[in-house]
Amino acid sequence: MDKLPEAARQRRSQTRHYRLCPRCGRAVLSTSAERYCIHDGTWLLSSCPLCGAPIISPNTRFCAGCGLELSDAQDRS
Ligand SMILES: [Zn+2]
Ligand SMILES: [Zn+2]
Repeated sequence: MDKLPEAARQRRSQTRHYRLCPRCGRAVLSTSAERYCIHDGTWLLSSCPLCGAPIISPNTRFCAGCGLELSDAQDRS
């Protein structure tokens, strides 16, 4: 789901996307190499696991698309 060709990845870089730790709420830019939270080792969400909406703010707590509380979410992919 998260594997885009390099070209598509660069086109998307105009919009900032983030990865969010569902446990502690930490966010990193999606361009970061970080895949797991460095605080607690939790897999970072790159989008809403329910509706797939991207995470576009580092302060995200709830999905902008469906209202899911992301601290409850687990990435099941
Ligand atoms: Zn964390
Ligand atoms: Zn959602």
